[in-house]
Amino acid sequence: MSAHRLRGFTLIEILSAFAIVAILALLIFPLVSSVRNRALSAECVSDARQIGIGMRMYAADHNNELPKHSYSPRQEAAIAIGRYLFPDIESGDDVLDQVSENLSCPVSGWGYGFNTFISGKSINAIGDTSKVIYMCDLYSGGRWLDAHVLTWKTKDLIKATPKPHEHQITVLYVDGHVELEKVSDLTRGQVRNVEDDTPIGDPDYD
Ligand SMILES: [Zn+2]
Repeated sequence: MSAHRLRGFTLIEILSAFAIVAILALLIFPLVSSVRNRALSAECVSDARQIGIGMRMYAADHNNELPKHSYSPRQEAAIAIGRYLFPDIESGDDVLDQVSENLSCPVSGWGYGFNTFISGKSINAIGDTSKVIYMCDLYSGGRWLDAHVLTWKTKDLIKATPKPHEHQITVLYVDGHVELEKVSDLTRGQVRNVEDDTPIGDPDYD
């Protein structure tokens, strides 16, 4: 065995190895976290689609009317819709248990907001069902969707609020389709089911 192969590593070699590992970690970590975020965003969109399917089934069975919700919109809508997604489950609480896993954004961890303006409304009375929002990602502390809820916090809090999907939120429309949207691209009319093109938030907010 040669003397060369017996010698240990020099300090420079060890430090170089550490530096290479550190650089690799710096390169790989953001990549892994962005792949993970994209997978969770896809999960959010898919959960919203499921809720949309339940919502449309409920309406088809109730004279084309959307589920009614009042004081606890998330729970009330979830039970009404969940009964169609899990028809074998009898009790409302058990349905809620099943659905509640899918009721918050897997990225932000915050619950979805159901639009109170169209609670119990007939789908026939909704102008453009592909534009009016039924449900979307909400922010901390919000309990239901109103046009101001997405941006009502103080400026500092808005800055502290992550937009869960690369500056976008998941939006389920009344026709059942789901899109990732920037809050500044949404209008008050899309929440209130009226003609109103006022943006919900300005571009600073995104
Ligand atoms: Zn989400």
